[in-house]
Amino acid sequence: MKLTIQAAIAALILTAPTFANDSIIVVSKETKDIAASLRDKAFQDDSAYEILKSLTTEVGARHPGTPGEKAGVEWGIKKFKALGFDKVYTEDVNMNGWIRGVETAEILFPSYQKMIVTALGRSKSTPEGGLEANILHFKSYADLEKVADGSLKGKIAFISNRMERLKNGGGYGPANIARSKGHELAAKKGAEALLIRSIGTDDHRNPHTGATSVAMGYTAVPAVALSNPDADQLVRLIGYGHSPKIRLNIQTKDLGAIVTKNVIGEITGRELPKEVVVIGGHLDSWDLGTGAVDDGAGVAIGMATAAFIKNNTDTRPRRTIRVILWGAEELGLIGARAYAKARQEDGTIANHVIGSESDFGAGPIYGLQSSNNVSPNALHVVDTMAGIMGKLGVTRRSGNTSGGPDMIPLSALGVPALNMMQDGTDYFDLHHTPDDTFDKVNPEHMRQNLAVWSVFTFIAAEWPGSFK
Ligand SMILES: [Zn+2]
Repeated sequence: MKLTIQAAIAALILTAPTFANDSIIVVSKETKDIAASLRDKAFQDDSAYEILKSLTTEVGARHPGTPGEKAGVEWGIKKFKALGFDKVYTEDVNMNGWIRGVETAEILFPSYQKMIVTALGRSKSTPEGGLEANILHFKSYADLEKVADGSLKGKIAFISNRMERLKNGGGYGPANIARSKGHELAAKKGAEALLIRSIGTDDHRNPHTGATSVAMGYTAVPAVALSNPDADQLVRLIGYGHSPKIRLNIQTKDLGAIVTKNVIGEITGRELPKEVVVIGGHLDSWDLGTGAVDDGAGVAIGMATAAFIKNNTDTRPRRTIRVILWGAEELGLIGARAYAKARQEDGTIANHVIGSESDFGAGPIYGLQSSNNVSPNALHVVDTMAGIMGKLGVTRRSGNTSGGPDMIPLSALGVPALNMMQDGTDYFDLHHTPDDTFDKVNPEHMRQNLAVWSVFTFIAAEWPGSFK
């Protein structure tokens, strides 16, 4: 198109972003005003809570390879359409499935007692009917490392350290090695099986399952988590000088190759439709509860945020909002890795302007963090977002972030990310347990999350500058 010089200047004046200096593009007053009004309105809006109620009630648990997971995918497609998303599609994710069957444990000596256990992800089965063996107690993974290889023949290794309760979930990482790699270490030491204290902060008789280091096939030995009270019981028994003997019966099944899905819904951008802001949560859940805080809440917040922005602005935001319901996160970010790999191969990774995943429960958001991939010239935008979120109790925080587990592969490819930091003080009371159910979620917290996410998502999709 040819323009006269006057027309070109007029067009520039109308459309050019305001420059504070050579490289800083400020967030316009109009954008800030819309973000603030979205915030106030979203804080009164129960749509995220309602979406979560539907997912956890009408579908329930969504473990890959189960009918619940298939129902979850169907639910996602239907819900996106019902919410008026412009584009709804799925992408296949290839993986190996695994499901649990029988899981029982009993103390046989010195006194008969039942224990509450659950198999860890991809745990091998015990012989049919179970195995009987004495427990050898280790206070930590590091303590188990110290004993001679092959020295635990005929024994069950029991690792008893407890994860620390912290607002930012920082106790999870250090405790997690026993869950992920304990089975390999136990096998190396010659043990028949691995028993760990659940990676969780509660005192309820609920075991916490979770992934191991194994992506296909089975763990090296049966790998099992005990509820916290049962772990305490065993530790006390050992404290009396006993060498408890237990019977452990774990039956699981490798499903071989299966296909799951990333389910994607988009609100198409009015001006830069190819540029995408990625939000969402993971659709899969562990099988014990109904996946409410992990990660139905993230799914609901992502879907509700995009729909809320569409329904409460006069035009679509400048860029596309892509809500991704990631598949198979729990078994190793499998959907997220497939998504990132496909975008790297087809070159569309460059269109990913910024992203974030909600995957730390349903607690209130208190902080906003940006990744090192965010350009120094865009940090003022993050500060502006935090300023508008301030009314909701959010402050700007330092430190790097991947933007959530399913953002890790995209962050590794240079996609900028933000982290809406949630209060996770109670998250690990419920995480991966039968107690991860809808009733635990506070509707007020869901409204606050929706309000915070609306501010981030709207400004990220509307501000014309680059986050890279
Ligand atoms: Zn999760």
